[in-house]
Amino acid sequence: MLVGVPKEIKNHEYRVGLTPGAIREYVAAGHKAIVETNAGAGIGASDDVYRAAGADIVDTAEEVFARAEMVVKVKEPQPSEWVQLRESQILFTYLHLAPDPEQAKGLMASGVTAVAYETVTDATGGLPLLAPMSEVAGRLSIEAAGTALKAVSGGRGLLLGGVPGVQAARVVVLGGGVVGTHAARMAAGLGAEVTIIDRSIPRLRQLDELFHGRVRTRVSTIQSIEDEIAEADVVIGAVLVPGASAPKLVTRPMLGLMKPRAVLVDVAIDQGGCFETSHATTHADPTYEVDGIIHYCVANMPGAVPLTSSHALNNATLPYGLALAKDGVKACETNAGLKEGLNVQGGHIVNKVVADSLHFA
Ligand code: NAD
Repeated sequence: MLVGVPKEIKNHEYRVGLTPGAIREYVAAGHKAIVETNAGAGIGASDDVYRAAGADIVDTAEEVFARAEMVVKVKEPQPSEWVQLRESQILFTYLHLAPDPEQAKGLMASGVTAVAYETVTDATGGLPLLAPMSEVAGRLSIEAAGTALKAVSGGRGLLLGGVPGVQAARVVVLGGGVVGTHAARMAAGLGAEVTIIDRSIPRLRQLDELFHGRVRTRVSTIQSIEDEIAEADVVIGAVLVPGASAPKLVTRPMLGLMKPRAVLVDVAIDQGGCFETSHATTHADPTYEVDGIIHYCVANMPGAVPLTSSHALNNATLPYGLALAKDGVKACETNAGLKEGLNVQGGHIVNKVVADSLHFA
């Protein structure tokens, strides 16, 4: 199969769909690869490095979209990219369609077969292609919160870990999955007081054991969320209902309970966000204020650390991408996890949870 990698064009997105190391694996398996010139610039991989890995370099994204049988990307296609996708082509990338009906309609109109990283599952029902970016975003969320808390950024002027004799920041993490666990680990490591709220009691048990009691846990209810955010300096939004829009756990009136200039980091923004007042922001202009509360809602947080992220992503996507390259969309018939990733086919939304979320599909 001819596999194509265009350069990412989303704001401040420096990751790349296939690293040179991944290209070597595709070529070793008998496939061919075309890569847009400079696609790997954000991770320091020059065209020559891609050539040495076995790829052909092409001058434009148009050529990649026109020729490739499978397009491998990182972020959802932008409108200028939808129109270049076509029937009999596979698109393998993050899509996050549930909160993005325009994207869904664009892909349906193109006729492309789109496999979304974020809904591929593994044997345990986990999300193996979301997990590596969730690890990165969870860890980054605490760095983002630490920056936003500083007085120069308009925050409360608080150090996350405090110092001896002075209260550390209180960090509340909504959702104790991959993002939430990595956020909690970073926050606790810096010395902050951390509470994780999740709706799953088995998950809270695991977290309690993992952190040896270093982190408080609470079951997710309106009351527990209100209690905890009232005391918080930082709230990390990290919930996920796979394929669906994120539940709005913190409403606008609840902001009135919070300390002035506290910080909300909504990592779940790519699924629509779990704070009612969230809207997606970019690395160029990451924060805004609502009712005195600072919001950080960057939808492609891992794009800020493309080297770490591209390698972590490729480690996870490679076996699935190779399966698609070998058997085409038929790979979804024999691989149940990959089948869950199938979002758009023949002009329809074929993943039931995503379709239910979009209503019109
Ligand atoms: P995950 O499935 O590992 O964890 C989600 C957790 O949310 C689960 O433990 C689940 O029990 C919990 N949950 C669901 N509903 C809840 C509720 N009502 N109250 C409390 N907890 C609830 O998912 P994840 O990999 O940690 O991803 C979390 C979110 O972060 C997703 O929306 C994902 O798309 C997003 N994400 C964003 C970025 C970014 O750059 N902004 C990067 C990676 C992941």
